Amino acid sequence: MCFFSILKLADCAAKREKKMASAIGWYGPLIDLSKAALHVGDYVQLVVYVHRTTPLQYKLAKGGEVIRTDIQVGDETRPFFSVSIWQKPIGSMAVAGDVVLLQNVKITKYGDVVEARTHQYSSLKCLLHPYESILTKGVNDLIEECRDGVATKEKLKRVVEWVKKRNTQELHGCQLQEGKLLRNWKPPEERKQPEDCFSLLQLSSLTTSCKALFYASVAEIFLPFNSTSHVQCESLDKEDMFVSRRLYKAGDGGLARDLICTGCQLCGSPLELDSENMFKQNAVALYCSESSNHLHVISSIYKPFMLYVWDESDYAPLLVRNKAAELLFGNIKAERVCSWWEKQTGQDDSKDVPTHSSLNAEAAWQPKAAEGGVLVSCSADGDKKSLESKGTHCFPETMHFYSIWLILLKTMLEKGKNSPLKFEVDVNAGLDKENGRFEMVSVQLPCFETK
Ligand SMILES: [Zn+2]
Repeated sequence: MCFFSILKLADCAAKREKKMASAIGWYGPLIDLSKAALHVGDYVQLVVYVHRTTPLQYKLAKGGEVIRTDIQVGDETRPFFSVSIWQKPIGSMAVAGDVVLLQNVKITKYGDVVEARTHQYSSLKCLLHPYESILTKGVNDLIEECRDGVATKEKLKRVVEWVKKRNTQELHGCQLQEGKLLRNWKPPEERKQPEDCFSLLQLSSLTTSCKALFYASVAEIFLPFNSTSHVQCESLDKEDMFVSRRLYKAGDGGLARDLICTGCQLCGSPLELDSENMFKQNAVALYCSESSNHLHVISSIYKPFMLYVWDESDYAPLLVRNKAAELLFGNIKAERVCSWWEKQTGQDDSKDVPTHSSLNAEAAWQPKAAEGGVLVSCSADGDKKSLESKGTHCFPETMHFYSIWLILLKTMLEKGKNSPLKFEVDVNAGLDKENGRFEMVSVQLPCFETK
């Protein structure tokens, strides 16, 4: 069967359908769109303006296709209403900008949405075309051309008046005049200029959420315990929570192990499902807030910690997550520190001073650099073995990173000996100071001009 035969058959079918519809006449009343909800399940007649048509085409796996055309229509009682057309000939007759008579369409309801759909005896008749003629001709001239009954003519008149009025409103309204289109999404908020604070006292007095810039000196890094039991917490040296104290213990006091964990590089959420995290807001979310594809990127990260800063007026704890911590530690990523730490503990375990974390199950802490965002977890024994087989002379540059990191920490925490740093923070007005009211975004070492 050739293409034209199919077309002809389709055309015949459409004509037959239309004849049947006209032969059968109207199955139900001509209604205003605002009254559609009162006619759910009934056949009705609609005189409407067509805003747009959207053909939806599905190819079936077994062959053949299902075609539906969704049209959005409106009248003077309801500006927007959906009609789904299931007959291809009718769908192809629907043109945006026309005023049409939809005969014998059924009102249906899906959930809370009321719409109309065509059935076997439905038809579409174009009453006015093209759109420009509706705008240029007078209402009476337009109605005269209509050969339908009185009810249809009266409804058509009201729809035409509405279309003309709507067009005028649009032209004189600001949307079209300014070349803007209606939008149904919220535009992203423009980045506000950060608030410049002259002192920490001024920062503390900010009552609204914003960004803030200020100069302050580093006083302390506070690393909360995250032991699973309170008994364990009780038995630990509380001084270990303060990094400045830990740095002067033998080795590094297990600092790298306690400051680094497995988590998301981007949002800084640790993946410690079995430990009670002191920062409740850091509980791992299912979706990553910082990633474009909403997936966490898993690797070794700096655990969220509190950086205490001070100036002459006040002090403030800043919540520091992984990305900000990297900036603070001279762009040394946690993975670099961690990979050295694993090697060192593999070589000489006696140097490692037991800390509160080592009271936890040893297996609970196994950050492992993960390539390509895949979480890799190995046992401590496995690491030792691999180190023994590799020998003691590999990766010297990684070792330097760890030493540099330690020196940097020690230097930074020498209270009173450093010039202030320039911090940018997010002020979260809903939180108190100890729970992340000020979250560090970036830090700079300012250059002061000397005369
Ligand atoms: Zn994340």
